[in-house]
Amino acid sequence: MEREEEKKAASEQKKSCVNCGAELKYKPGTTEITCEYCGHQETIIQDQDGFKELELKPYLDEMGSLSHSEEIMILHCKNCGANQHIEENYKSLHCVYCTMPLIIEDAYKEDWILPGAVLPFQFDQKKSHQIFSKWVKGLWFAPNNLKKAALDPEHTKGLYLPYWTFDAQLYATYSGERGDYYYVNVPYTTTVNGKTVQRTRQERRTRWTSARGDVSGFVDDTLVKASHQQKTPIPSKITNWNLDGLEPFNTSFLAGFVTEKYTIPLKDGHLSSNKEAERIARSWARHDIGGDTQRVHSINMSLSEETFKHILLPVYISAYQYSGKKYNFFVNGQTGSISGKRPYSFWKIFFFVLFIVIVIGVIVFLSQ
Ligand SMILES: [Zn+2]
Ligand SMILES: [Zn+2]
Repeated sequence: MEREEEKKAASEQKKSCVNCGAELKYKPGTTEITCEYCGHQETIIQDQDGFKELELKPYLDEMGSLSHSEEIMILHCKNCGANQHIEENYKSLHCVYCTMPLIIEDAYKEDWILPGAVLPFQFDQKKSHQIFSKWVKGLWFAPNNLKKAALDPEHTKGLYLPYWTFDAQLYATYSGERGDYYYVNVPYTTTVNGKTVQRTRQERRTRWTSARGDVSGFVDDTLVKASHQQKTPIPSKITNWNLDGLEPFNTSFLAGFVTEKYTIPLKDGHLSSNKEAERIARSWARHDIGGDTQRVHSINMSLSEETFKHILLPVYISAYQYSGKKYNFFVNGQTGSISGKRPYSFWKIFFFVLFIVIVIGVIVFLSQ
């Protein structure tokens, strides 16, 4: 019963235009879906109960076959392994990561744990393309073909990336040592104007005393990526999303964008988050020990009241082939920060170096 209601809530405000029947798409930076033909707009109807934090344990025991999961259509890329989903009907689609054509007939239904929240795109594809073009124009030694390719907005696509976030109550006991600095005067001899003299200098020492205790607190929103991005890792430089902008999940935010389905299971995501929790426990222990410096010998951590969310975060990807090699550029769909691998033009660098050599040659010649 509960599951049915869940399904209905998440799946669907109708996403076709009342005037012309065209598909409505999410308008970045708003809470509207809009018709690109006649301009009709509708406000996205949000559930009243807000974010859905899910209790972790039942999901780890019984992978996702519980409520808060539903089926979506998936297109799997045979080339890079990414699982992609788009909301509306489509005729042709290329893999967002590697530009490989995806075979529509191969789409299949698959269960997924429903996202608990989504960070909607804050600007549209056109704007992301401007950011990208501006960046490319500023690159030194970039091949001219790259600059040409950057002028084709078809190469830039908006993708919602899957992440897991974990919350937990952390408790840890630790043993270690507290180090306090003190200074001693150390005599030494040196030579001044040919004479040997006695001097003293200050040296820092550390006094160690043993320490033990416990720390506790709430670990909020540990973010762990949920897809491998094997051939095309998303550069960490653009992954600074502000999670305060999260909206309760609604498929309307996905309309007009590609969504990637997680390929890293919840269980593995949870293991990564445990490592992060241990790192946090260690830093809390150091803080608790105090002094000028600390050693942590052992830490015994336990987590309780663990919950998780599957969340979707926005990024624009531009995939592009240059002399048989593939390059990607990434723009954070919330902040607009950009990063990417780039090709260099051999000939531009060659002629630049040649130019420098000639200039130096001329200077040397003139100075003689
Ligand atoms: Zn319309
Ligand atoms: Zn691919």
